[in-house]
Amino acid sequence: MMARRTTRCNALAAILACVFLAYGAAGGRALAYTRDYMVPAAGGCPVVEQQNISVSAPPLIRQWSTSLPILEPPVIATVAAAGTPAQLTEIENTIQQAYGIWSGVTGTLVNASTFPNALGPLGETSTQNACTPDALNGTPSNPDGIDTICFNQSSSAFTTGVLSFTRVVIAEAPAQTIGTAPPPVFAGQIVDADIYFRNDGQAAFATPGALASTPGAYDLESLLAHELGHLFGLDHSGVWRAIMFPYAPPPGTYVGERPSVSSPDAPLSDDDRAGLRSLYPDPADTVDVGYITGHVLPANPFALADFPATSPGEYETGMFGAQVVAVDAASGSVIAAAVGGWSCDPSTSIVQFDGSYSLGPLPVGNSYVIYAEPFVGPVAPSDIAGAFTNLCSTGASPSCTLPAIDTNFSPRAQQ
Ligand SMILES: [Zn+2]
Repeated sequence: MMARRTTRCNALAAILACVFLAYGAAGGRALAYTRDYMVPAAGGCPVVEQQNISVSAPPLIRQWSTSLPILEPPVIATVAAAGTPAQLTEIENTIQQAYGIWSGVTGTLVNASTFPNALGPLGETSTQNACTPDALNGTPSNPDGIDTICFNQSSSAFTTGVLSFTRVVIAEAPAQTIGTAPPPVFAGQIVDADIYFRNDGQAAFATPGALASTPGAYDLESLLAHELGHLFGLDHSGVWRAIMFPYAPPPGTYVGERPSVSSPDAPLSDDDRAGLRSLYPDPADTVDVGYITGHVLPANPFALADFPATSPGEYETGMFGAQVVAVDAASGSVIAAAVGGWSCDPSTSIVQFDGSYSLGPLPVGNSYVIYAEPFVGPVAPSDIAGAFTNLCSTGASPSCTLPAIDTNFSPRAQQ
């Protein structure tokens, strides 16, 4: 979800966030990068939430709605005149380019140069409300299994300041019946991911070609790239330069470079790339295969937010919700970041809040400096809390109670 910010920092005028909805109720060391987990209906350790993308899986089914808000000034600013076929082509090109940013990441199963059919064709629909309607009683009504982008669908999620969001519907079990979506293959599968842009004129969005001439409009390509990160299963990153950083570029601007034929994934940071590789690794990749694992532990256990445990089923022995960052020792570049905090023993299915982290996949053959820091800067605990929302979801056995995210510690580095 993206919301305009009216306090604190004017330079950061929008916040990107997302709405994650598990459909119905809901090993080992986890948490590479910032991904979301949930507990399968059948129990066991939390599993990562991701699209069904594998060598043998059918392509993603995706489309966008060509229904656009008709307001003045235009909500979707383009070089081409409003209401013309050329305008729709320009918007579709922007969507394709945004998808291409992610499918340009090497070492993944969505990489277009290696797996050209993974994403399937981008379809069009003229239906205005083609995205899954708002949730009824907490249950998204009738998701269709088509990953759809809507520019003209109203939603109660568009509260004051919200610009756009991604609604993700996740299966709790294989073969679960979820709306009219194709049966899921595994628990944790994202069966429907729809992206909504605000349509009431409270915000405007411009294609790359129209950005410079549309003061006050947000860069549509950047926002699409961010929301597509959610579509693929990524949550927010605390890395300033990441496309998954929760705050959008100010109106009229974008971060990094535009994608190009030679660098289709140019706007991404290495952290974004590591995130996608962690979800959909290409088994043939021999470069990005390194992992650094460890624990973030307090010098004094009384520093833990929930020490001693305040609820049954809570076993907090390490820092929960610390950002752990891998920096290339030679270049000084941030390569990957993760939100550390928990692990799960497959033999007992017990989730332990022991400060575990796993960073990667990282390029092998390099040296890294690792540091841990609390979310006390521009990215607040609430910005990354979505990664933990379903960690103790219904079905967790034995029961599990989320501790509070720890913020009361000082950054530490280790080489
Ligand atoms: Zn977001």
